Amino acid sequence: MKKTNNSDKGILYVVSGPSGAGKSSIISMLLERCSSLEFSVSYTTRKRREGEQNGKDYFFVTKEEFEDMRRRGEFLEWAEVHGNFYGTSKRFVNEGLKEGKQLLLDIDVQGAMNVKKLFPEGIYIFITPPSLEALKARLIKRGTESDAQIARRLKDAKWELSHIKEFDYIVMNEDLDTAVEDIYIIVRAEGLKVHRNMDKIRKALGYDI
Ligand code: 5GP
Repeated sequence: MKKTNNSDKGILYVVSGPSGAGKSSIISMLLERCSSLEFSVSYTTRKRREGEQNGKDYFFVTKEEFEDMRRRGEFLEWAEVHGNFYGTSKRFVNEGLKEGKQLLLDIDVQGAMNVKKLFPEGIYIFITPPSLEALKARLIKRGTESDAQIARRLKDAKWELSHIKEFDYIVMNEDLDTAVEDIYIIVRAEGLKVHRNMDKIRKALGYDI
């Protein structure tokens, strides 16, 4: 039986996990190392944090703008996370995958589960903190959230952790470099899967297999 050839299809990586687990730091280091990956910049109604750039970290929009986009069906998925709205561009993902690109999404667990329904062939990576205490300490140290917001994010984290089994890989962020290395290895290994490389193999052999 001839195996299917998916090498022209692109790969969707979805990275998820509790807020404060270190996703953003891991992802920005990974993107520097893996030039083949393209980050999906989400839309959010959250206020811009110091150091964040519009169009790079997020597209910062008003609630009205977000609602208009949602009504026009421009989001692949959207969610209310910790009291703010976040959404993934449908066009960016659909067109990127059609063009054979490797896309990386940083979204919350409910978003990841919704994307999985649309793209079950995607690669779902859960980033977890070493413990809930460590997560709390990180959120306090980051200093970008109020006490009430921290309490809310910790409560949400417990719910998010309860969905770990629906993911393909788990990366425990005890040490940042190791966590980046772990995801790098996942990306390398996924890219080497036979079904993604059938064209390459045929070209190398000079005949069809
Ligand atoms: P933060 O406000 O700390 O940047 O992000 C809060 C949470 O929202 C994180 O868990 C992040 O992964 C998630 N998030 C960011 N963009 C999106 C998105 O487009 N969709 C969903 N569902 N979650 C998102």
